[in-house]
Amino acid sequence: MMTEEMPINILPDNAGDEKLCLSNSLQRTRNTQQRKAVLEAVIALAGKHPTAAEVFDTVRVRHPRMSLATVYRALHALVRQNSVCEIRIENVARYDAGPCPHHHVVCRHCGAVLDVCAEAMPESLAKLLHELESTTGYRLDPHPIQMSGLCRACRD
Ligand SMILES: [Zn+2]
Ligand SMILES: [Zn+2]
Repeated sequence: MMTEEMPINILPDNAGDEKLCLSNSLQRTRNTQQRKAVLEAVIALAGKHPTAAEVFDTVRVRHPRMSLATVYRALHALVRQNSVCEIRIENVARYDAGPCPHHHVVCRHCGAVLDVCAEAMPESLAKLLHELESTTGYRLDPHPIQMSGLCRACRD
């Protein structure tokens, strides 16, 4: 997972008509509700690997007052708590709430993203990743492998 906190901190905290003066506990409850709404949108877009802007478009249908900045913040919180995966394709963050650990194949021509369930990969691969974790000290993401190629449509 690549974390890039910077752009979020630059965005205004309260775009739109959100009220500024909320007590901490109220704020927490609101954060939870916002995260829930954002998670629901990512789940609704499952398999599409939406960008933050695409998640925002979906959230907005039911929560017209939620700002893009709020969606960004909620997405980062969800990624931190492992409810949502973040992948980067051509340096654009995309979000995924896939139910099982999986890898990705990305079409380098049209950008289509395909999920490859980790369980469908040979066991030796899981072993290799595990070994890599112990030799490097890295904790790998649940979706560490990103392969590129040409999708069916672009191949023809
Ligand atoms: Zn393609
Ligand atoms: Zn995926």
